[in-house]
Amino acid sequence: MTLIDGKAIAQRINEQTRAAVAELTARGVKPGLAVVVVGDDPASHAYVRSKEKTSTELGMHSVKHALPHDTTQAQLLEVVRTLNNNPAIHGILVQSPPPKHIDERAIVEALDPRKDVDGFHPINVAKLALGDADAFVPCTPLGCQRLLIESGIETAGANVVVLGRSMIVGKPMALLLMNKGRGGDATVTVAHSRTRNLAEVCSRADILIAAIGQPEFVKANFVREGAVVIDVGINRVADPSSAKGSRLVGDVAFAEVAPKCSAITPVPGGVGPMTIAMLMHNTVLAAQRISR
Ligand code: NDP
Repeated sequence: MTLIDGKAIAQRINEQTRAAVAELTARGVKPGLAVVVVGDDPASHAYVRSKEKTSTELGMHSVKHALPHDTTQAQLLEVVRTLNNNPAIHGILVQSPPPKHIDERAIVEALDPRKDVDGFHPINVAKLALGDADAFVPCTPLGCQRLLIESGIETAGANVVVLGRSMIVGKPMALLLMNKGRGGDATVTVAHSRTRNLAEVCSRADILIAAIGQPEFVKANFVREGAVVIDVGINRVADPSSAKGSRLVGDVAFAEVAPKCSAITPVPGGVGPMTIAMLMHNTVLAAQRISR
């Protein structure tokens, strides 16, 4: 069984990004990433901090807008418009989820699609569905695809089951895998909470991608001998034996599933670091495209 080291692969990709940032900067185009976070959700702030830290480390121009919880829809839209018009900013990310009084869809639609490095704008969703090469693809599924490619796991002709159908992970993951080309050409099944005989459906997969947000839900009977398992889940569970009183687990019951796999991602250290690496990659792409 191969443990897919997402941290090491993400580091390699970040080095490529660093070189691309240096090359753009030498041409007078320093890639700029703006991250907007509304409210004080600790998890959102932790994600934003690591995005800001990585972009700065890679030599990008990094801007953070931390707005108070009571920021209105109109105020947030104004921030987005200002960033859309700022030539020093090539990528804009509004950290999800915003507070309940914010209409997230309207915020995403207000983004300049050319700066939508999260790939959530309807234009980018449509481009992904069309198989257009210039789509911005959501960072987590893009990271999963890249993990497969970098690990030499062939997707062409493979039976892939994507467990979960969110717009952030499951649905774009399925589109990426069914599109033509490298890291695609798979036969894709998408499973979700209404799927019948879920374990049996999953056990047909050569490659199983779990993104449901249910701690250690995928058990050994979901996985066929020799399958590849990509665990997207990040779930915090109570653990009195740890200093923090909790620990992170994936959507896959790693201890019982790993022995059956030919390759599997750990949590943490699998998909998580790839998501940030792909955000940096997308920001460089945005800077390259805008400055063309
Ligand atoms: P959502 O809650 O938006 O979607 C969950 C999906 O899983 C839904 O399609 C839902 O089905 C399905 N689902 C939930 N429970 C079950 C079940 N018991 N059986 C079958 N299907 C089920 O989650 P996200 O897609 O945003 O995130 C999924 C996981 O990935 C989470 O743990 C999240 O923390 C993690 N994540 C990790 C990232 C990373 O960087 N590694 C980035 C983003 C997310 P239905 O549609 O029918 O309700």
